[in-house]
Amino acid sequence: MTSIKSAAIIGGGVSGLAAGGLLARMGIKVRLFEANAKIGGCCSTTNVGGYTFNDGALYLALPNMLDRVFTKVGLDRPSVLPLRRITAPQTTVLPNGDKVTFGDGLRVTVEKKNGTVNEAALKKELNDMMKKWEPALRLLTEDILVNPLSFSRFLTKGWRHLPKFGGTVADELKRLFSDDSVRAAMSGVLLYTGLPPEKQPTISVLGLVTLFSDGFHLPEGGMGKVPEALSQALLARGGEIHLNTRVKKIVVKDGRARGLEVDGRGLVEADAVISTVSGMLTFGSLLDDADSPRKMKRMASEANLSHSAFSVQLGLRNKIDAPSHSHCFLPLMENQAEVFAPCDDGVKWLVYDAPTVTLPELAPAGGSVIEMYPPVQRDFPIDDWSDEKKEAILAKAVEALSRVHHLDIAVKRISSPKEFRSNLNLYRGAVYGLSPQVAPWNHFPHQTPIRGLYQTGQTTYPGYSVGRAATSGILTAEALMAD
Ligand SMILES: Cc1cc2nc3c(=O)[nH]c(=O)nc-3n(C[C@H](O)[C@H](O)[C@H](O)COP(=O)(O)OP(=O)(O)OC[C@H]3O[C@@H](n4cnc5c(N)ncnc54)[C@H](O)[C@@H]3O)c2cc1C
Repeated sequence: MTSIKSAAIIGGGVSGLAAGGLLARMGIKVRLFEANAKIGGCCSTTNVGGYTFNDGALYLALPNMLDRVFTKVGLDRPSVLPLRRITAPQTTVLPNGDKVTFGDGLRVTVEKKNGTVNEAALKKELNDMMKKWEPALRLLTEDILVNPLSFSRFLTKGWRHLPKFGGTVADELKRLFSDDSVRAAMSGVLLYTGLPPEKQPTISVLGLVTLFSDGFHLPEGGMGKVPEALSQALLARGGEIHLNTRVKKIVVKDGRARGLEVDGRGLVEADAVISTVSGMLTFGSLLDDADSPRKMKRMASEANLSHSAFSVQLGLRNKIDAPSHSHCFLPLMENQAEVFAPCDDGVKWLVYDAPTVTLPELAPAGGSVIEMYPPVQRDFPIDDWSDEKKEAILAKAVEALSRVHHLDIAVKRISSPKEFRSNLNLYRGAVYGLSPQVAPWNHFPHQTPIRGLYQTGQTTYPGYSVGRAATSGILTAEALMAD
């Protein structure tokens, strides 16, 4: 058992809340400091004129990982966080007029403009995909990803799956599916990574397998209910959550983390510190340069960052007839890099989500919510995002959406990478922190070279997404308890 009696946590996203919940359950005095006026970070929602918009995450995958986190902190997930399965996850329209709809479970419907799809062949291909990849998914989500990072564990338990992992998602989908339109719809599910299929490592195909096995889900009331529910564990055991409280520095004395310098409060002493902000921020700015370990500083400065994003969110007075949660107009898989081409001359490939298809309560009665990420120039200087430039992109997005739906806009919100940086405190606006291409052993370690300082959250193993970041919080708390 640890001699640590008190812990200070920087950040109230799902990783900080999970770590704090478990530590408080183990009898440690926990104080959590969140710069924003609410908890949740990248998994929170904002109500604008009666419409609930996501601040970051749009849906939950890997529900079993989240269940495990809730169990660890002593909460019964189904009762504190009821989930609704997205039974119509995606409809994809291809340039040749084909339409591919993913329904509940393994239901895939293909409406061909010319001819018909070979249903028996498609069913077999789907089953073959699941047969090949589902055991790997189970191993990862029930064993590898919920335990501390261990290469030998992976080799011992996962050696059978190793031959599958070579190549890219594009290679794998070519092997798995014979119909061009089906393949394009499949790769479309994975474009959230910010990378075209030929740049995604094969293992990303598990994102697709997750959809067909466990499904995608929304918490009743919206994504902001996840941190709300998780925070119960911390608060019930006397933990403190301080909102609107920015941490300025991690205080290190004699090679050990001793506490935090907190805006408006001065020094807050603690036996241990957990930072949930990205490793780039922890080692690049929260630690004094002289305290920051050289190796960590180098990792921070050379980090391969994920993409930054631009979002358009609309609250509509009218109900739209969106066929699915996600509605995509996509090129064939081989050309999907085009989806990321900046939309300065108009949005060519329209992709948007309508969360009100699954949760009508996110809008006032009879209304709808649309969320869309129009592609923008990725290397555009973050400080140059002006209102004028944002409005110009909004106009392109609305123009594209109006080709498909009547839009009676009641409220809107536009977020450029600059807002993602300032509102969510994301390093350079990078939505997932590190790129999905970064291997787990290149994530920041939970136990840092500074005694008493722990790093957690989406730039640490097991990585980004709500379930994984929360799991990272649990693994970090367990590492701290074992010290
Ligand atoms: C646009 C977007 C879309 C996404 N879509 C999905 C999705 O659909 N599904 C999915 O599963 N995942 C998605 N993700 C990823 C997922 O939301 C994150 O991986 C996860 O929520 C990260 O949690 P975290 O606790 O590690 O970090 P964060 O949520 O970033 O929490 C860190 C917290 O620290 C606070 N903070 C920062 N600096 C300070 C400071 N100096 N002092 C005090 N507090 C500070 C921040 O305000 C924040 O609340 C998305 C993320 C984004 C941004």
